[in-house]
Amino acid sequence: MSTDNIQTIIPGLWLIATPIGNLQDMTSRSIAVLGAAQVVCCEDTRHSGKLLKHIGAQPQRLIVANEHTEHDATSQVLEALANGHIVALITDAGTPGISDPGERIARAAIAAGFFVSATPGPAAFVMAAIISGFSTTRIAFDGFLPRAGAERRQRLTEITRERRTLVLYEAPHRLSKTIADLIALGDPERRVVLARELTKLHEETWRGTLRQAMQHISDNEPRGEYVIVLEGVSNIADEISDDQILTEIQLRKSGGLSNRDAVDEVSSVLGVARKRVYDLATK
Ligand code: SAM
Repeated sequence: MSTDNIQTIIPGLWLIATPIGNLQDMTSRSIAVLGAAQVVCCEDTRHSGKLLKHIGAQPQRLIVANEHTEHDATSQVLEALANGHIVALITDAGTPGISDPGERIARAAIAAGFFVSATPGPAAFVMAAIISGFSTTRIAFDGFLPRAGAERRQRLTEITRERRTLVLYEAPHRLSKTIADLIALGDPERRVVLARELTKLHEETWRGTLRQAMQHISDNEPRGEYVIVLEGVSNIADEISDDQILTEIQLRKSGGLSNRDAVDEVSSVLGVARKRVYDLATK
């Protein structure tokens, strides 16, 4: 690695990673790009204002991009890029586009032919995965689970069969429900890591099984920010039963799917041969 190979900060969209809790994790390249940017796009002006002040950056203009304004923000960013500006996009914490605004803006800038790059840095899911002790050869990141309904159930079912290390984000008040759902649909003895308040004063990494996690959560009310890391399932010896297949088919049919679509979906989600699912569905 060489420090003389400093990339020029050229006009375009720069996705800038910011700390997930510890200001010392702000890289010097992130600071340099934010200092050079004429336009900074952020989720919250008050929150990002503090960071910009701390590093001495004084952009000419701030654009707000959150879940309500990302559409408008996208056209403002494209306009700034068309004017030849350096636009830096930051979020409240971590890497933009990772369960955060940024994806839509990056895609629009790429489609319009502008230069798009990033200054990499903290991302809670990467840190949680590497300190989990589970395999990092193959990792799946699922962000936040859907809150309810068939989509949540489908994702949970997929997770119960996931062979890769699986990382999830979860709000503290929903942690217990998610762990309970994982136990209900999968193996209570599956190993899990709850990585809390990473890089902050009260950082904590709890390790155990899903069953023990339930107890841990009921003894210690979850507070702060959490990443859930699940060990990949190694032996799917617990073959899917006919009853389980029938329940999954019924669930989808009562949700409005045709017999054929329900069969296709259950076969793909459970990883069971379509013929077996079809035979059960038409019995
Ligand atoms: N873009 C961010 C990243 O790169 O990790 C994630 C933003 S997402 C809106 C926020 C979620 O990330 C939190 O609800 C939590 O699950 C996780 N998270 C962020 N910072 C964290 C931290 N310091 N410790 C544990 N989890 C964290």
